[in-house]
Amino acid sequence: MTETLIPFAEAIERYEPVIGLETHVELGTRTKMFCGCVTTFGAEPNSQTCPVCLGLPGSLPVVNRTAIEYTIRIGLALNCTIAEWCRFARKNYFYPDMPKNFQISQYDEPLCTDGYLDVEVNGKTVRVGIERVHLEEDTGKSLHVGGATGRIHGAEYSLVDYNRAGIPLVEIVTRPVTGTGEDAPVAARLYVTELRDLLRSLGVSDVRMEEGSLRCDVNTSLAPPGAPWGTRTETKNVNSLRSVERAVEFEIERQAAVLDAGGRVIQETRHLHEDTGTTTSGRSKEEAQDYRYFPEPDLVPVAPPRDWVEQIRAALPEAPAKVRARLRTEWNVSALEMDAIVNAGALDLVLQTVAAGASPADARKWWLGELSRRAHDLGIELTALPITPAQVARIAELVAAGTLNDRLARDVIDAVLAGEGDPDAIVEARGLAVVSDEGALTAAVDEAIAANPEVAAKIRDGKIAAAGVLVGAVMKATRGKADAARVRELILERLT
Ligand SMILES: [Zn+2]
Repeated sequence: MTETLIPFAEAIERYEPVIGLETHVELGTRTKMFCGCVTTFGAEPNSQTCPVCLGLPGSLPVVNRTAIEYTIRIGLALNCTIAEWCRFARKNYFYPDMPKNFQISQYDEPLCTDGYLDVEVNGKTVRVGIERVHLEEDTGKSLHVGGATGRIHGAEYSLVDYNRAGIPLVEIVTRPVTGTGEDAPVAARLYVTELRDLLRSLGVSDVRMEEGSLRCDVNTSLAPPGAPWGTRTETKNVNSLRSVERAVEFEIERQAAVLDAGGRVIQETRHLHEDTGTTTSGRSKEEAQDYRYFPEPDLVPVAPPRDWVEQIRAALPEAPAKVRARLRTEWNVSALEMDAIVNAGALDLVLQTVAAGASPADARKWWLGELSRRAHDLGIELTALPITPAQVARIAELVAAGTLNDRLARDVIDAVLAGEGDPDAIVEARGLAVVSDEGALTAAVDEAIAANPEVAAKIRDGKIAAAGVLVGAVMKATRGKADAARVRELILERLT
């Protein structure tokens, strides 16, 4: 069914959006939440299970201390209050990927509450309130085989992999975010981006959206300005930053059409189709009472000692936003230039290249220019290029010293990427260094002048621009290994 949509700009003229985000993060603990099974991604299906995470009768869960510590770390970084005492709860529902018929989660006693995360949106700071951060266990994974869409409809049979069942999962729930207007879709994307960077800096998760270790449910509602908030829909399991933005945008366009036609937005979950950026209706949303939550009787309450919480707080790393502000000053770059570095996924790489001795300007130039192009051509992330920040720093150093020019530096990069070794070894083996021997350069210049008498005559007559032809000839003769600026000087010394 094709939905009726109102163009975004028009929808936003008549309605105020309210957004909210629920983000699930798989923690990077070595073992699962309530048992000792390992959590390695991509293992043979059902090879990382035990009676506890398979939910066999009589098995008993034990809380993973590291998962509690990671969750407290997240809560503190999000400016939350850490509970002095809280409990896990059973969330009862049936699903084939959850063999206990309940999920151990937290309900009215979350570990962390009442925080915030500041997000820069088009030059303004939007303070996103964090309602709660709680800990639960992930479910297994169903694989529907034989259908065209990978969904259960049309599938011939389904398989279940319980390797993921019981992996610690943190849910971070925002308060409703109001007043962002036409920036609502971008604000949603930037919130998730900032949160991802923060979680990565905390070392609590690998936050890979494409592997599902970070996934978002995106809530959107619309109402005329000044009216009470509208009914919200929840777009489930959005797994790319671009899709977070698109999900909000699409729901604004769709809900505006429903409201314009005098209809009522139905409270429901919706699925995002990554290919088209559209959402379709899922199930009508359960209310909390449908889950029949009650305190988990098999686990003792969690009461983190205050001095432990303070130790964790003292060990928190500098927040990414603060790191960026500090580096902007140190590197003397504009907000826009810093955005370009961050958006290219190059911040850590530039940082490490500078630490290895390159100037910030050189480090930026190589990672955002030549190396970004190579990564793009290969269809891989910048971090996956087989070249290290130390190697890039060394190449920049060779250019600064005049041993390499930019063209030769690109040849060295090619060779490093091809696995030929370190820059110095490559320069040596391939004879790539710039010809800096004045005698050899002078000879090449004299040869070029002799071979192009008409051009030389023009330069003698004052047409300095013609020198470019002779520079080109010398560069060709030296196979790009001459210092072009020095060649130009030598030519002008001789002819003017
Ligand atoms: Zn297990």
